[in-house]
Amino acid sequence: MRDRGPNTLAVHAGEGADPVTGASAPNVVMSTTFAMEEPAGFSINAFEGELPYVYTRWGNPTVKMLEDKLAALEGAQDCVALASGMAATSAVLLAGLKAGDHLVMSDVNYAGTAELARKTLPEYGVETTAVDTSDLDAVEAAMRPETRMLWIETPANPILRLTDIAAVALIASARNVPLVVDSTFATPVATRPLELGADLVVHSLTKYIGGHGDALGGAVLGSRERIEPLRTHALVHFGGVLSPFNAWLIGRGAATLPIRMRAHEESARRVAAFLEDHPAVGRVNYPGLASHPQRSLAAKQMANCSGTLSFQVRADGAALAGRMARELEVIHYAVSLGHHRSLIYWIDTAALMESSFQLEGEQLARYREFAGDGVFRLSVGLEDAEDLCRDLDRVLP
Ligand SMILES: *Cc1c(COP(=O)(O)O)cnc(C)c1O
Repeated sequence: MRDRGPNTLAVHAGEGADPVTGASAPNVVMSTTFAMEEPAGFSINAFEGELPYVYTRWGNPTVKMLEDKLAALEGAQDCVALASGMAATSAVLLAGLKAGDHLVMSDVNYAGTAELARKTLPEYGVETTAVDTSDLDAVEAAMRPETRMLWIETPANPILRLTDIAAVALIASARNVPLVVDSTFATPVATRPLELGADLVVHSLTKYIGGHGDALGGAVLGSRERIEPLRTHALVHFGGVLSPFNAWLIGRGAATLPIRMRAHEESARRVAAFLEDHPAVGRVNYPGLASHPQRSLAAKQMANCSGTLSFQVRADGAALAGRMARELEVIHYAVSLGHHRSLIYWIDTAALMESSFQLEGEQLARYREFAGDGVFRLSVGLEDAEDLCRDLDRVLP
């Protein structure tokens, strides 16, 4: 199956007609336990070679089906699926780092990841340095002898700033430090970080890959050598397993990922252009716009510019957020992104700095170049772009 095109892989990888009934659509296996033909050990360590299905926290056929589909889409040897994007993130950080280790991380990324790295990891003896990873000199300067992981997110939430994956991969590999890429905004349709030298890729499946806003999930992808121990830590011991029903829903969503990403991108380009021309709107951040400061990196690294953008407004953003929540008719005023429904949310710079990022000086100034006092993050869904523009035009001052 691996030599097929991405559209074919999205539909078929991991699945096949049921060998007993011929059912064309996949079954969902909700069973938590599996009847055995012979008695076996009680610990995962008692099994050698290919693990049979024993208990759903160790492995489940429907979850496996999704893992195989995602591995095919990402061009990865192996994949482990987890209960949420944060379950995937925490598994990689907690399984990969121990007391005394040092982590270098993007200074702008998903708020939950930022808070975990800055507030929780230090309590376990892991120190984090947060740097602007679009600045290669800053990444170099942050690396220490005890650095054991480099974590980037590209495009980074919520300012859509990009990091050159191939360039930071060289910095990491020169020091034998694994590079982890949170590729949730890009999806494997846009960017394949493993081919650019990354060691692990993390996705929140809750976003574009599931695509319909009805199932939380997460995944980590990479070589068999890196994923296998993570499976023992993250599933068997930490226990953050994906429900088989969610795996089934996300697999169904993933089947249409390539065509949905084309539609998300096409509409996002139109909405971004509309916003850029609107007198009430300040800067618009979208990798597909000619005005994006890393336009050439976007062209090199992103085969699709995805569907999430952010924009500043000239009026008071917090007040306008209230108006949007009450008056938008098509777009939902709600957190999250990557769904078929368009979603918008106000992200206030001061509040975000206090709760999650704590940037100061030059790093804060660089954040504010993109975000000013705050941005509206808009996840452009699969509705008609004209309807989205009309909805926004009605509420913008
Ligand atoms: C949403 C998100 C996460 C967390 O995923 P959940 O499924 O909500 O736990 C992590 N990284 C990025 C970039 C995200 O957008």
